[in-house]
Amino acid sequence: MLLEDRTCLVTGASKGIGRAIAEELGDNGANVVVNYRSSEDAAYEVRDAIEDASGTAVVAQADVADLDDVEQMYDAVADEFGGVDVLVNNAGITVDKKFVDMTREDWDRVMDVNLGGVYNCTKVCFDDLREAHEGRLINISSVVGQQGNYGQANYATTKSGLFGFTRTIALEMARYGSTANCVAPGFVKTAMLEPVPDRVKEQILERIPLNRFAEVEDISGMVRFLASEESSYMTGQVLGINGGMEW
Ligand code: NAP
Repeated sequence: MLLEDRTCLVTGASKGIGRAIAEELGDNGANVVVNYRSSEDAAYEVRDAIEDASGTAVVAQADVADLDDVEQMYDAVADEFGGVDVLVNNAGITVDKKFVDMTREDWDRVMDVNLGGVYNCTKVCFDDLREAHEGRLINISSVVGQQGNYGQANYATTKSGLFGFTRTIALEMARYGSTANCVAPGFVKTAMLEPVPDRVKEQILERIPLNRFAEVEDISGMVRFLASEESSYMTGQVLGINGGMEW
């Protein structure tokens, strides 16, 4: 098993990409921590799916934007598994508006979850990630962080912010043999894509050379690779999984 005895904390794992990542890591032998904020039933479904496939998983409620919540989640994980070897910062939200209509509240909410959450979770796991044999930090960014996107000034800013964060943490963890990388998906078929009007989806599709939106499994396979020892000599990278969209 590629990830036997590795404890992997996946934030925002109750749905979408995070769910697929949690299940993929569980299928490869990891002890998976399924974090969620509000979708409790969905999170327990993910745990059950991992256990039904003979994996090991626990559910951990925490709003990643709230440092107290995140510290409590970490303490519970440390009690259960002794620490975290792989952190996947996946939880993310959008509050889309043209910049002219975007309030400071809209801006702050997205910053708090998409960047504040990354700070909080990385902070509490940082010593473990450095001290683990080949610790792994994997941040889920977006092609929107590379290209910008109409109506997403707040979201795009958080997703580009992850590039500098990942690169810096990669430098700070390198001497310990641990790595930090970023995955930048294109447009993926999840709840996040649902509010996009059909007309806009057609325009997006025209910009995707492979002419389809990503499946969640297109992303989770790359995360499995980055979590494993097979990626030992890769760090500070941004891996685009976007059907060939240029940026
Ligand atoms: P999704 O289907 O909307 O799922 C979001 C997940 O994040 C849910 O499990 C949700 O849990 C969790 N979450 C949200 N706020 C949270 C918080 N404050 N604390 C803890 N968990 C929280 O989204 P997705 O499409 O899978 O996106 C996952 C990641 O991929 C995001 O970072 C997103 O930016 C990125 N991404 C998505 C796409 C895309 O096209 N879908 C493309 C590029 C990048 P609850 O429901 O329990 O709150």
